Amino acid sequence: MEQTLTITCKLRPTPEQALKIEALLKAFADACNFVNQSVKPSVTSKTTIQSQVYHDIREQFGLSANQAVRVCARVGANRKTAKLKHKPVKAFRPTSADYDARIFAFREKDSTVSLTLLGGREHIRLDIGNYQRGRLKGRKPTSAQLCQHRDGFYYIHIQLTDDAPEPIKSDKVIGVDLGRREIAKTSTGQGWDGKQLNQVRDRFSRVRASLQKKASKGTKSSRRRCRQVLQRLSGRERRFQQWLNHAISAAIIREAKALNAAVAIEDLTGIRERTNQQPRSKTERRRSNSWAFYQLRQFLAYKAIKEGIELVVVPPAYTSQTCHCCNHIGLRSKKSFNCGHCGWQGDADLNGAINISKLGAVVSLPRGSGLFCSLEQAVSGLPKAPSL
Ligand SMILES: [Zn+2]
Repeated sequence: MEQTLTITCKLRPTPEQALKIEALLKAFADACNFVNQSVKPSVTSKTTIQSQVYHDIREQFGLSANQAVRVCARVGANRKTAKLKHKPVKAFRPTSADYDARIFAFREKDSTVSLTLLGGREHIRLDIGNYQRGRLKGRKPTSAQLCQHRDGFYYIHIQLTDDAPEPIKSDKVIGVDLGRREIAKTSTGQGWDGKQLNQVRDRFSRVRASLQKKASKGTKSSRRRCRQVLQRLSGRERRFQQWLNHAISAAIIREAKALNAAVAIEDLTGIRERTNQQPRSKTERRRSNSWAFYQLRQFLAYKAIKEGIELVVVPPAYTSQTCHCCNHIGLRSKKSFNCGHCGWQGDADLNGAINISKLGAVVSLPRGSGLFCSLEQAVSGLPKAPSL
């Protein structure tokens, strides 16, 4: 099994190089927009796109042969994603361009990348720390994206592909319930309270509110100062969240490894499109729409692959309302769960996590997990579901 890790590195271009990067990004986006307008919208194959417009791209936008190929691939890929969401591809903005082995190389000895820009190759210095240096040590990456982030600086996203061990089949499954009362709760009873996180969030939001107020009044220089502080704070909040997500996902994977178990989480892909029409609770919306939970799921997924842990996704319906003892629908009120059928009472998140682990076992094991109602014998001798 293969796993790809993306390393983001800030670039330190000279002013001349920065102008060339800007021109390249613009040419790449212009070419994408040209292709998107001139090739029939239903065509998504990059080879078909290439056969129709390759020569036009080379003539009109000053891109190299491989860059023209990357343009066709980008439009094709974006069209495929858009098709899944039943939306057309919108315009391409000049914020990123794709690179492959022919037009991109990483040089370890002086921490530079060489990139084909318009009119030739440029060696650009990387502004990187120990993490990136360690990851890139001894590697010859073959694909990357040149990007301009919202902070206005240029970055290179470098892909590193590794062989990951084949996941071990196991009859044990740890269910993980993400982002209800707690940030995460496992069926084995491990939990991460959202309290500390919420306190930090609230503190940030208070500070933000007061700074925003100041930024709208005051002198020109104090307004500018407030905006700078706001920008720095947004980075700190994001880094705190990232650190926490790393810690939680690492602990879950560590436990799975120790128990030789698979990990099950709820499948929330597409839930935004499917369920936003129906009224949903605030927690439910946060669970599926927030980038922080999306990030935690992604961290879990890539750590699982890396460690050879099987990760299964289960349908999210009813995992929080069903009683894990008797599989009847019970009553959930805030932190606790009450089953009117068998009388089980306890932590609602734990109940959800155990349900996810049982559903996960259905997915990962052919012989099932015993997830069914127990049937009573009717007078006629036929099985009968017990009445609620
Ligand atoms: Zn029950």
